[in-house]
Amino acid sequence: MTTNASRGDEVLDSLRRHAKRITEPKRAVVQVLVDARDHLTADEITQRAQLLRGDVSPSTVYRILEELEDLALVVHSHMGHAAAVYHLTGQNHGHVTCASCHVTFEVPSDAFNRLANELMSSLGFELDRHHVALSGICAACRAEID
Ligand SMILES: [Zn+2]
Ligand SMILES: [Zn+2]
Ligand SMILES: [Zn+2]
Repeated sequence: MTTNASRGDEVLDSLRRHAKRITEPKRAVVQVLVDARDHLTADEITQRAQLLRGDVSPSTVYRILEELEDLALVVHSHMGHAAAVYHLTGQNHGHVTCASCHVTFEVPSDAFNRLANELMSSLGFELDRHHVALSGICAACRAEID
């Protein structure tokens, strides 16, 4: 089992391998991402990083997220009209989001296999399962409509 501490070390090691400086704000952002149970916006990451280190500015967090994305350590996704959310790579899933109450769910990547295969064979189109959430109506909202 990978612990949070070792996951954080892996990310920091990878930064070192790419000759990136390990600053205190960077450590804070990595720790926030490792500890996160959910998908966080840049604002949420900034707020949590500031609890660890008071002097982390939003622009610093954006730069760090950009660097982590360039190294494929972090990915972002878009859930409906809300701000983009970020998390560490390596979680294989797609997203669906409710257009009514904006709850989002992670869906196993396999759930998209048929669609992905169909798009590839008919259009030569490679589906990105993660970047943009599929929109729809969740079970709870459907129950209210009925
Ligand atoms: Zn995007
Ligand atoms: Zn995700
Ligand atoms: Zn809903």
